[in-house]
Amino acid sequence: MSEDMTQVSDHIADHCVINPATEEVVAAVPSVGRAETDAAIDRAATASAAWRDVTPADRGMLLRRFAGIVDDHIAELAALEVANAGHTIGNARWEAGNVRDVLNFYSAAPERLHGTQIPVAGGLDVTFKEPLGVVGVIVPWNFPMPIAGWGFAPALAAGNTVVLKPAELTPLTAIRLGELALEAGIPEGVFTVLPGKGSVVGARFVEHPAVRKVCFTGSTAVGQSIMRQAADTLTRVTLELGGKSANIVFADADVAAAAASAPMSFLDNAGQDCCARSRILVQRSVFDKFMEHFEAAVQAVVVGDPAAERTQMGPLISAGQRAAVRGFVEDAEGDVDVAFRAPAPSDRGFFYPPTVVLPRGTSDRVWQEEVFGPVVAVMPFDDEADAVTKANDTAYGLSGSIWTRDVGRAIRVARGVEAGNLSVNSHSSVRYSTPFGGFKASGIGRELGPDALDAFTEVKNVFIDTTA
Ligand code: NAP
Ligand code: MG
Repeated sequence: MSEDMTQVSDHIADHCVINPATEEVVAAVPSVGRAETDAAIDRAATASAAWRDVTPADRGMLLRRFAGIVDDHIAELAALEVANAGHTIGNARWEAGNVRDVLNFYSAAPERLHGTQIPVAGGLDVTFKEPLGVVGVIVPWNFPMPIAGWGFAPALAAGNTVVLKPAELTPLTAIRLGELALEAGIPEGVFTVLPGKGSVVGARFVEHPAVRKVCFTGSTAVGQSIMRQAADTLTRVTLELGGKSANIVFADADVAAAAASAPMSFLDNAGQDCCARSRILVQRSVFDKFMEHFEAAVQAVVVGDPAAERTQMGPLISAGQRAAVRGFVEDAEGDVDVAFRAPAPSDRGFFYPPTVVLPRGTSDRVWQEEVFGPVVAVMPFDDEADAVTKANDTAYGLSGSIWTRDVGRAIRVARGVEAGNLSVNSHSSVRYSTPFGGFKASGIGRELGPDALDAFTEVKNVFIDTTA
């Protein structure tokens, strides 16, 4: 507990960050309370007047400098993320590099973000893309660094100030990014990291009238409650929510290549990935061939110490998450057949074995709901129409993969699947220069790419009478 409540305002308590691979306490982080959140929002609102007036060239230069300092600290940030979130060291390095890349990408925006001139009678009509003011970014525990960057980099580039709430389970890398921003010369109050509870800090972002927009990434249930609350203050929202993405393998595909790549498409980040291809649809005529190659590939995945270079899959985030994942496999027994499992450490750490299940039908819970763990459900399909129907038969619509050598089929299926991010003969979902986001219950709005900037600006139209 805080020693002096008057000094540190309303810190609720220290939250202990646990290393998911060792179950040891890594750090104790104070949870920010409501009054402190309000004070930070007020400072961000004050800072916004000066930040929007920093020249475009200087704002771009500061973001490039921030990117450069992140680049100088890749190894440190990656090691911190291994301890903070149990990410494999290779992934954690990529994630820190992604923050750098996203900052560099948007550092060009201040000088390029422009309105238009519209032909009208009697005068000159121009539009301005103006900053919103304060933007609140709420980040989940599964990708603490990249998801933070996808919010704060375009928001800052468009001239907004940012308050950012990391997940309570994984605040350490976001806190470090906040320090690096100051080191880069981003002025005080422009980018503030506020570790604390979603129900306190996050909820305050939504309620506070000075926060003009909330970028939320997390569960569909919390996203829905944020959207409901945002109605009261007419706060703009971008919601990036869950997924249950299908990996569709046609008989005409390179089935061996599809099977070889499928394991990491659901095991990356131990399956705690909103884009995980957690359902595999395989055309019936090649189902057995696919499963034979797939089993060998899953068994070859190296599960273990995330700090070791060769490890491909580490632990889940928490004991609670492991219990939730287990519930999908074990509670469902009778409905779901486990095809096979691969080995995982069992002595310590929140590990769960890679698990492949065969649901009986499309209404099975493990086929419909997001597991957010290393569990994939595999099902055969008959033809193209059946594949699209089955792929679309969930509430979600985030990502998906299509494996075929027939380009016409690839395009027809890509147009038919209701999802925001599809890839053909690949499992890629995220590139900083292309739009990312979901259909249906997977969210509202798009992040990344050039168009994301529009979500952080208001358009102002000005007419100047030239007849006088
Ligand atoms: P979550 O419970 O929804 O939490 C996400 C964030 O929201 C956390 O920072 C959390 O704070 C905060 N929060 C919780 N309740 C809140 C409230 N009432 N008001 C404002 N903020 C609140 O999700 P999670 O368990 O961290 O993450 C797993 C889920 O996120 C999965 O469903 C996954 O698919 C989804 N996800 C989606 C994407 C995407 O881009 N589409 C990316 C990653 C994850 P605490 O730290 O206090 O819980
Ligand atoms: Mg939660």
